[in-house]
Amino acid sequence: MMEQNIKKVFIEKFGTIPLMVKSPGRINLIGEHTDYNGGFVLPAAIDKYAFVATQKRDDEGIHLFSVDFNESLETSITGLSTNGMHWPVYILGVVDQLVKSKYHITGFNLVLSGNVPIGAGLSSSASVECATVFALNELFNLGISKIEMVKMAQKSEHEFAGVKCGIMDQFASMFGQENKLIRLDCRSLEFEYFPFNMAGLKLVLLDTHVKHSLASSAYNQRRAQCEKGVAIIQQHQPQVHSLRDANLQMLDQYVLPEDELVFRRCKYVVNEIERTINACVDLQKNDFISFGKKMFQTHEGLSKEYEVSCAELDFLIDQVKDNNAVLGARMMGGGFGGCTINVINENTVPELIEDLTEKYKIETGKNLSAYIVSVQNGTELIV
Ligand code: ADP
Ligand code: MG
Repeated sequence: MMEQNIKKVFIEKFGTIPLMVKSPGRINLIGEHTDYNGGFVLPAAIDKYAFVATQKRDDEGIHLFSVDFNESLETSITGLSTNGMHWPVYILGVVDQLVKSKYHITGFNLVLSGNVPIGAGLSSSASVECATVFALNELFNLGISKIEMVKMAQKSEHEFAGVKCGIMDQFASMFGQENKLIRLDCRSLEFEYFPFNMAGLKLVLLDTHVKHSLASSAYNQRRAQCEKGVAIIQQHQPQVHSLRDANLQMLDQYVLPEDELVFRRCKYVVNEIERTINACVDLQKNDFISFGKKMFQTHEGLSKEYEVSCAELDFLIDQVKDNNAVLGARMMGGGFGGCTINVINENTVPELIEDLTEKYKIETGKNLSAYIVSVQNGTELIV
């Protein structure tokens, strides 16, 4: 097992027994491109993790080892340097936050390993950040609350990795619960757990292995279009501060006459925020048929109205949308690549994966990867 291996590596390298933490990657069932519009998201932690083993040092040194990259780094609290490597960014970024917040820590040794696929949209970066901040909080007895740790992890990604991410990834990694989805209100950060008891069903992620270069410019464009929609509505309804406050009637009345493209973008978002709320009602009734339909609707909206899908993602959804064994499926994440997320009848999963892998190869010339995941607890100590 990975956690046994990382412990062994730590003991060999540093000669002491480490404190160990694991923190998961995350999925998001419904609620895409809603976070920056003050809406809801519906994420969960999955059974893929970053594992961290750590122990105090007697000096200011920070000695890191990545099992997966087979690279070491020696730096110190007083002069945090990644030495040109990338993976230490997510560890040192957290240290940087702790130092800036005046928490007292000394040097430490740390070994990192993980099985969250990197760059597939499952937020391996958040899993590393959350594992690190949780482990250091335990190690140095800092008494930081979970929500503060989430905010520090997010900020470290902004400031050290230079990625202006929302709070969902770190939140889901830290606060995940077994067989529950988290409905997070991105405006207030209030959250509530909903049951996700998928007896007889499996969650399958299909990784397109593409990331089109359009992704980041389109993301900024979409954000600007949403802001423009809000600005148009605000001229008539000053109480509207985000698309969370808007409804379809306002869009029809104020936005459509002025800008048809902005209207379509906003319509998707307003519908998606409502869909996320209604999806939670489905969960309370254990109604996966209705829940799954909403996932397909989300995909349709992301593809046709919000226009952040791509040929590879659309192909995978087209292949399953008339298959009765697939209750729901959609692209997941920002778009232009990454994974689709599928809710599938358990007994058809192996056959379907095989079939889709073959068809995807013929269609795109690329390999498809499939990850079967389950919904698990968030960041925790390994005892
Ligand atoms: P993702 O969508 O998976 O979060 P990012 O580009 O945001 O993709 O973060 C991926 C980076 O996180 C990797 O390039 C690496 O630096 C770091 N990372 C993730 N998992 C590990 C791991 N197991 N070991 C070392 N570094 C990791
Ligand atoms: Mg990331």
